[in-house]
Amino acid sequence: RKSVVRITTGSQALDELLGGGIETLCITEAFGEFRSGKTQLAHTLCVSTQLPIHMHGGNGKVAYIDTEGTFRPERIVPIAERFGMDANAVLDNIIYARAYTYEHQYNLLLGLAAKMAEEPFKLLIVDSVIALFRVDFSGRGELAERQQKLAQMLSRLTKIAEEFNVAVYITNQVIADPGGGMFITDPKKPAGGHVLAHAATIRLMLRKGKGEQRVCKIFDAPNLPEGEAVFQVTSGGIMD
Ligand code: ADP
Ligand code: MG
Repeated sequence: RKSVVRITTGSQALDELLGGGIETLCITEAFGEFRSGKTQLAHTLCVSTQLPIHMHGGNGKVAYIDTEGTFRPERIVPIAERFGMDANAVLDNIIYARAYTYEHQYNLLLGLAAKMAEEPFKLLIVDSVIALFRVDFSGRGELAERQQKLAQMLSRLTKIAEEFNVAVYITNQVIADPGGGMFITDPKKPAGGHVLAHAATIRLMLRKGKGEQRVCKIFDAPNLPEGEAVFQVTSGGIMD
């Protein structure tokens, strides 16, 4: 039986909100508006996952699937230094792939699973999980097919999380809620509908605060109390 590993986010407040950090064996989704910190959290996790267990890391490698071209290896350097790690060694343990279509994204996952069977990975990032689906299935009549393909992709991610005891961190966009109505104060919701809601175990809503501050709210998580945490995006990554 595999036991859960919790990987630090770099912020103690955020870790506490999450019950210790991002968990292996399940999917954690972060959604929120542009610049809310989803990708910066991904960069920080790329590093913290490689920390030893006693330092709240996962002692494992990282796989990063980038659909928006926003991964910056040079961002990893100051984050690694902040954690007292060798930046080149950290970069060597991040397997990076850019995906250009949803099919490409799916095929990359198949290849990664083969790699994970051979080497100790502890984190898989897909940033963003849904962007290519929204491009590749943009017509109104294609929604059912899109949701079916999205479900397939997410079930593959769940399988990887469970089979290799890795944390899966996915990012998602917010869309205007067509049923919002004029009295709803926050007419935004995560994209992906019921399919994504069902697949992601822990759903986090990120938003901008003052200056470099960001706020994370538990949107849905079976074992976590409701609550919020405030953190900062800095050159050294996510911090209190
Ligand atoms: P999202 O992926 O949610 O669109 P990002 O994770 O890319 O958002 O966050 C972008 C924000 O992160 C920027 O607006 C900036 O405030 C902050 N940021 C990015 N790089 C740095 C850095 N080197 N130092 C401090 N803050 C940074
Ligand atoms: Mg981003």
